[in-house]
Amino acid sequence: MTFAGKSVLFVRVLMFSSCFGYHDAEVYRIGAILDKPDPRDHPAIKQAFYKAVSEINEEDPDYIFEALTREITVNNPFESVSATCQLLQEEVVGILGPFSEDNSNVVQSICDLKEIPHIEVRWDDYPLNGTVVNVHPYPDTLTRTYYDLIVAWGWEDFVILYENNESLQRVGELIKLFEPSKQRIVVRQLNSQEESEEGFRTVLKEVRKSGATHFVLDCSYEILEEVLRQAQQVGLMTDKHNFIITNLDLHTINLTPFKYSETNITGMRCVNPDKFISDELDPLAGYQLKLEEALIYDAVKMFAAAIKSVGRMVRPLPIDCYNFEDKLMSGTTIINFMRNMEYPGLTGPVKFDVRGFRTDFGLDIFELMEGGQTIVGNWNSTKRPRLNVSRIISKGNDLNDDIRNRTFKVMITLTEPYGMRVESLDPLYGNDQYEGFAVDLIKLLSDMRGFNYTFILREDKANGKFDNATGKWTGIIGDLIEETADLAICDLTITMEREAVVDFTVPFMMLGISILYQKPKKAPPSFFSFADPFAFEVWELLMVAWIGVSLILFVVGRISPGEWENPYPCIEEPEFLVNQLDFRNCLWFVTGSIMQQGSEIELKSFSTRMIAGMWWFFTLLMVSSYTANLAAFLTTEKPDPHFTNFKELVENAERKNIKLGAKRGGATESFFEDKWKADPTSDFGKAWPLIQKTRDVIKIPDNVDGVYHARQGYYAFFMEDKSIEYETQRKCDLNQVGGKLDEKGYGIAMRKNSTYRNSLSTAILKLQNSGKIDEIKRKWWEERKGGGQCSSDGDNSDATPLNLKGVEGVFWVTILGTILAFFLALLEAIIQVARKAMRTETSFIEALKEEVKFYFKFGKMEKQVLYPESSSKSPSAEEENQCQYGFVVNPQMSLETLESNNSLKSKRSRSKRSRSRRSRSRRSRSKK
Ligand code: GLU
Repeated sequence: MTFAGKSVLFVRVLMFSSCFGYHDAEVYRIGAILDKPDPRDHPAIKQAFYKAVSEINEEDPDYIFEALTREITVNNPFESVSATCQLLQEEVVGILGPFSEDNSNVVQSICDLKEIPHIEVRWDDYPLNGTVVNVHPYPDTLTRTYYDLIVAWGWEDFVILYENNESLQRVGELIKLFEPSKQRIVVRQLNSQEESEEGFRTVLKEVRKSGATHFVLDCSYEILEEVLRQAQQVGLMTDKHNFIITNLDLHTINLTPFKYSETNITGMRCVNPDKFISDELDPLAGYQLKLEEALIYDAVKMFAAAIKSVGRMVRPLPIDCYNFEDKLMSGTTIINFMRNMEYPGLTGPVKFDVRGFRTDFGLDIFELMEGGQTIVGNWNSTKRPRLNVSRIISKGNDLNDDIRNRTFKVMITLTEPYGMRVESLDPLYGNDQYEGFAVDLIKLLSDMRGFNYTFILREDKANGKFDNATGKWTGIIGDLIEETADLAICDLTITMEREAVVDFTVPFMMLGISILYQKPKKAPPSFFSFADPFAFEVWELLMVAWIGVSLILFVVGRISPGEWENPYPCIEEPEFLVNQLDFRNCLWFVTGSIMQQGSEIELKSFSTRMIAGMWWFFTLLMVSSYTANLAAFLTTEKPDPHFTNFKELVENAERKNIKLGAKRGGATESFFEDKWKADPTSDFGKAWPLIQKTRDVIKIPDNVDGVYHARQGYYAFFMEDKSIEYETQRKCDLNQVGGKLDEKGYGIAMRKNSTYRNSLSTAILKLQNSGKIDEIKRKWWEERKGGGQCSSDGDNSDATPLNLKGVEGVFWVTILGTILAFFLALLEAIIQVARKAMRTETSFIEALKEEVKFYFKFGKMEKQVLYPESSSKSPSAEEENQCQYGFVVNPQMSLETLESNNSLKSKRSRSKRSRSRRSRSRRSRSKK
């Protein structure tokens, strides 16, 4: 039996025993949300979760815990909402996980709202608010560990290899801890060349060629073993090489292939690998407990301890996500308890700071030696010194990378807004001639690091491309290689190819390729534009309501006695009654109301009037909503875009005669060319032939030309989104279509192995942290040179058809009012039948049966009247004739009613007279 099975069985047994009075135990449900498909070892994480719950139940039968799990897709907020809401409905008192960032954020915000304790088990340095704690070691404290190790090992020249944005964040924090003048740090991303089976080898070969021997490797568990294997293949695992690996699960991968290489591999772990959780996770059976499994185990145990401390105050209840009032009353108390507790877990003492981050923890430092992993020391955030290691530490080379007082030749281009000429009537010389974002950034860096600079201009704005014909790099990259310039700053994208020949600082701005296109023109109004104010579903329901209310009015009109009226007002006791509410009239009445016109049909009974009242209320609101929304539609430009995203553009470009282009020789053009080379059938690959087709006809040596052609129409210009943002702030006829196609950055380039790279990188990171870079970006994008012109533009296209949600209430009021009216009509009819039964001295049931039978004869709109014998009086022929000639007997009766009654009567009197006479004589016979 699995742990899940055992755990549930155990809980059931305990619940059963509690039913028989052994003890009165409350059941607390703990939910875990796990992401899929996820390379993380789900079975093991689940086992750890179930095992923790079952152990808690065994320890203390007074508190019973039940484990619930939900699996959701990675980074799928929609599924996160539904999984969380399901768990809340199932009365959970706390939620663990999930692991992916977007999912976790969603769960956190719901838990926060519902005051449900949320226990994060993932690397996350985002400030924690509300009812959340994170059992993962705090990122900043971990960064300290890496720093202490690097310092202890005496590294002064090393390469940081990182995997993705999350690891870049960690790396950024690490770099900030170093004094720029002491260490020389190179930062490289581990780009995987999946298509070419090169894997990470390209990057690894490059760093080997650069002569680097010390590496900090920050990557996920999933690729760690592969990266190490490929590093060994490219010759990065020799006795000269040193690695610090930041992944806390390093001890769980198979390091045997590397242990004889004499490479210094240092790792750290916060889980004792000999700790035993369950049979399935037994180290004797070869299982190595991973951090997340141990964390989830600790989290559950600690959470249960907190619940027990809070005691019976915790009352599990089903919580409705969409009901604002629903909350777990003691959720905040549980979290506060957890924040103040200390729990001895598998991952060491679990303790939180006031923000809910885990603090004060220790790590084992181990090295890979021939005998396997050997503990060489430990690191503890509370001890001084924090790091205790027993290894003999060698000092690295001292490199003098001080850049103070050096003078750099800084290459710029006149690419707005990075570099521009200052407009001035006075002649300007030297650096004063230029202004812009790049100029300001260099100034800030020079102030921080104390270097001098002279700008040199690259007139043709060529950033640089490898020329196969000459075997040389063109543009700025070529200039750096040939030492024409020391630094280059403009919209210079960091690419793999460029990084092989020059060095870049860390990115000062992140960006991605997107599409610049002419703003869609107003579409001609469609033939049925009058229907636009309501969504289709509302029109549908309106039709249903129109027919439905007519039908109900017809039925209620038949049932309601008040609608049956004397066709001859001058006759006090007519033989039959007529009803004006046949289906046609009902339809006409309802139509007249919705058109706000009326129909001359007067309703008489309370129930039919109630229906009419409801319907008028409904039509009043619907017509007002329609009119208001119609006005919005008439004044709104409804654009008609040629395409809404990249895929649509590539698929329809030829059919719609849209040309595609990018700056010649730029990183954007290379991006599409590389994608085409890797896979011509991919979406990106398909764009390259389309770009090539127009490349020689419409020449784009510069972004300015691309923007010009985009403004002419039918030209989609691929441009980097930060440049698009700049243009669309000023040229209101242009806009960005779709999102970013990739993710990269602009950096300051310099010759390979420049000693000042680290100094500039740390300065950039500091400027980013202090918000200075954002400030100069705002200045050049939004404030200067006509910025912000189009920001309020284009906001008038937000008229949307009114959907069902917007008018749902009106429909419900009408439905309920109509149902009420229906019941009123029934009541009226029952009273009428009862009176009739009394008068005719028949049984109530008989009279009711007769009445109901009549109701179902839908074609019959006149009804026989049975009079009590004593008072029965039939109209004489004389009386009938009087009516026929139109004596007004009821002064309140309108002329129209009278006319309609008279005409009705004249029509019917001929056919009915003989019948009424027959019935009169029948009655008089029976009286005798
Ligand atoms: N930033 C690009 C480069 O460095 C130029 C502009 C582009 O290709 O879109 O080559």
